[in-house]
Amino acid sequence: MQTLTTIAAIRDALVNARMSGQTIGLVPTMGALHAGHRSLVEASVAACDITVATLFVNPTQFGPNEDFSRYPRTFEADQALLADAGCDFLFAPAVTELYPDEQSIWLQADAALADDILCGVSRPGHFRGVLTIVAKLFNIIQPTHAFFGQKDFQQATLIQRLVEELNFPITLVRCPTVREADGLAMSSRNRYLSPADREAATILSRALSAAKEMILEGETEPDAVQAVMEQCLAAEPAFVLEYAEVRQTDTLATASAPLMGEIVLAIAGKIGTTRLIDNEVVGVPQVRATANVAEGIAHVS
Ligand code: AMP
Repeated sequence: MQTLTTIAAIRDALVNARMSGQTIGLVPTMGALHAGHRSLVEASVAACDITVATLFVNPTQFGPNEDFSRYPRTFEADQALLADAGCDFLFAPAVTELYPDEQSIWLQADAALADDILCGVSRPGHFRGVLTIVAKLFNIIQPTHAFFGQKDFQQATLIQRLVEELNFPITLVRCPTVREADGLAMSSRNRYLSPADREAATILSRALSAAKEMILEGETEPDAVQAVMEQCLAAEPAFVLEYAEVRQTDTLATASAPLMGEIVLAIAGKIGTTRLIDNEVVGVPQVRATANVAEGIAHVS
């Protein structure tokens, strides 16, 4: 694997691959890599001729009171993981390479999809930073495919819109969330957790599982599903809830009763100073109405 730090060098390195029609898979990351990131790289290696991972802790997606300066940086371990996973190129630029001057052009999604809902509410401007850096990486690498994790559901949805609405000729691949054995979604931020907080953090996936089970057993009231998530989360005193919501996967609109189609259960909150998010996509079972002619009663099954 070759590690390159300038835009000119990575463009140069990919010229031949592009000219000869090879597929190029892009895996954007902020480093502190774990098995979740690795699964994205492996998906790219399996699907594409060339895989490029990027490692860039993007300052413009962090708020003034967020963890940009203390975000974990584990460059050598990241390089080793990527090489081992079969990555061909690592693009790891300095901040000044991607933001040489003050940025005056930004990509801003509608507030109804970004700043007014889910993670956007507590992180105003976050998705503007995400969309802008992803568009820069798309233009620099010009991949044929790009791989994102379902773990960051709102982000993946916005990037899907970015590709469709700004006509990037890129196939997006969403990869499932990789979890620890006890259900905790892997995250670079998990390393901030003390052993006690690490234990408490399993409450997110447990709340999601309880809500998912309810839906699969026939619950169609979003308020009831939300209440179960909130009750479950309230049982863990270390967890401070930001949101627990039920939304449609395609539009991110609040799900209305009766639940139908594919919905996403999404949770965010803090344990100590560590912000955690998780989600679960659920296909709502189709209700089949069967008329019981003898009794004249409609049964649902
Ligand atoms: P990050 O380094 O946190 O910006 O994440 C880089 C990419 O890895 C994003 O597309 C994330 O959604 C994805 N990712 C992070 N954690 C996981 C996970 N546990 N499973 C799958 N993908 C993940």
